[in-house]
Amino acid sequence: MNNPDTSSRERERTEDRDSEVGRIEVVTTGMIPPGLPKVIGPGTEGVIREGGVVDLYDIDTQNLRLSDNDTIEPGTEVRVSMWGRQVYCQPKNEYERQQERNQRRQELERKAVARYKHWKRRRAEEFFEQYDIPFEWDVAIKGRRSGLGRGSWGDGRAADTVNHLFVCESFSEGRIERSAESYLCTPGIPEFRFTEERHLDGDEEEYRPKVTCKTCLERMERWKKDRGDTGKVAESEVAADE
Ligand SMILES: [Zn+2]
Repeated sequence: MNNPDTSSRERERTEDRDSEVGRIEVVTTGMIPPGLPKVIGPGTEGVIREGGVVDLYDIDTQNLRLSDNDTIEPGTEVRVSMWGRQVYCQPKNEYERQQERNQRRQELERKAVARYKHWKRRRAEEFFEQYDIPFEWDVAIKGRRSGLGRGSWGDGRAADTVNHLFVCESFSEGRIERSAESYLCTPGIPEFRFTEERHLDGDEEEYRPKVTCKTCLERMERWKKDRGDTGKVAESEVAADE
């Protein structure tokens, strides 16, 4: 998502970060209470004492210290957490600001994705509005055994899968004739049962995606509403002659 919003957000984030201490490593200076990992694991809080001692609220130890004593002022409340096997601490207000920023960013990203999906839906609707298709139709992919193998989405759909116009009722027009339950681009009933192809818009509502099969698109030319160029008619009549 490369838009001006993102770059200004990026800048804001970087500026905020400049004034932040970030995560400071915590070192041990003696016996560690056995319950410590359990307390720190999910993240806990404490306060910095003189000499960089990290005094946790939930466990009694004076044996945790900032790796660099001067990085966080004594009296500062801190958030203490594990990162891998290492313990870190960070000023609590800084941590909370970061959390808020992350949430804001996630929300913006979620909205951008939803906007994009709505836009895709509108594009698909506009696509079909161009046509006057004289029979009942749907959109379907071609089920392929190869689609279930490596590099597929695991749903019978390979990366290069295209959407076809599926003919739901038989028709014949000019030199093109199809029986019900077939693809516009291929004569005959397909070997694999087709499934209606649906995409989800920004509200997770299903819609029919655009047709992307080149042959299907060529054949659909004849049903374009404002097809001013008569040359195209002749072309598609020829293309249909297979
Ligand atoms: Zn097709």
